[in-house]
Amino acid sequence: MSLDYERYLANTANHLQPSGIRKFFDLAASMKGVISLGVGEPDFTTPWNIRETAIAALEEGFTSYTANAGLIELRQEISTYLEKSFHVQYQAENQIIVTVGASQALDLAFRAILNPGDEVLIIEPAFVSYAALVSIAGGNPIAIPTYASNGFKVTAKQIENAITAKTKAILLCSPNNPTGTYLNKQDLLEIAAIIEKHDLLVLSDEIYSELTYDEKYTSIVTIPGMYERTILINGFSKGFAMTGWRLGFLAAPPELTSVMVKIYQYTTMCAPNMLQHGAIEALRNSYDQVETMRQSYRRRRNYIVHALNSIGLDCHIPGGAFYVFPSIIRTGLTSEEFAEQLLKQQKVAVVPGSAFGESGEGYIRCSYATSMQQLQEAISRMKVFLEPLLVREV
Ligand code: PMP
Repeated sequence: MSLDYERYLANTANHLQPSGIRKFFDLAASMKGVISLGVGEPDFTTPWNIRETAIAALEEGFTSYTANAGLIELRQEISTYLEKSFHVQYQAENQIIVTVGASQALDLAFRAILNPGDEVLIIEPAFVSYAALVSIAGGNPIAIPTYASNGFKVTAKQIENAITAKTKAILLCSPNNPTGTYLNKQDLLEIAAIIEKHDLLVLSDEIYSELTYDEKYTSIVTIPGMYERTILINGFSKGFAMTGWRLGFLAAPPELTSVMVKIYQYTTMCAPNMLQHGAIEALRNSYDQVETMRQSYRRRRNYIVHALNSIGLDCHIPGGAFYVFPSIIRTGLTSEEFAEQLLKQQKVAVVPGSAFGESGEGYIRCSYATSMQQLQEAISRMKVFLEPLLVREV
């Protein structure tokens, strides 16, 4: 006898939309000869010194739980990293939590601050997890759209218009996934003024902070008045090429981290001990490798932006991350049609912009974290795909 499973499922979980990215990965994975510009992760393997340190930790028997908030040595390294990067002070003992990826840091932050019905402002196009995580924590995600005409930057006025009595926090992601948009100090100053005026918290997703190409990274935490209001979220996945390690961290005022640690202690306990040793090495001794990877992404960014524009897809130059977000409006296709037809006809996988929110419609996300050779081949296949579409338009 089959059960009526609907009856058992929790409404919020049951009604979550499946990620629009997964669907294309699954389709692409079932085909041969596909070039993927779909995946949001580095094409580099983690630098050897980091891997070697984790192997040694395993050999030395670091196989037990650690403190819930992570190894104190790692938290001290994170504290030093934040101090060196932004001249801000976080106490390793009670202001930093080592998490299972930045993903879990986001989850902990939302669970710790949201009461049912609280609103969180999310700047779209946005990373697919934000809205879902807000909903799972009982809150309401409120989307603020951004547009290519403004370099996908949100304006202070837009934020102010979206604020209600229920707004508790705003989530900022710079450099952004999927647009690559980087918010500079001036942008952050304007946003910070609104945050302060309306007494909001800010969740700052800085997972791409090591990957900016034209300017040195500025964190909102350095803007006067923001340290007290910021939950800073970062991790090892992108800058250090450590996605599979599942290691991230957050830094925040102790009144907030103490609540998050309680949730962590009951749900997860701690991040893997031996891998945390690898992360210590990442922060101590890997800056040359990070810089080499950054320069490589920078070269590829410059290539792909130029190449996409030259085959007829308007593409702004993004300041960071490893994504470009060209317009496909001229083709007359929806972003989903574009991605599906491009995959089927020319075996190039990209992600439809609609996966990142309504204002992503009319765009596709291409990740350039793949070899230059693959990028060149992808561009020539896209050129063939576009020819009949763009001729028809004239
Ligand atoms: N934030 C953004 C903007 C991301 O793009 C990603 C990964 N794609 C994450 C957070 C999650 O990172 P992690 O692998 O550290 O969980």
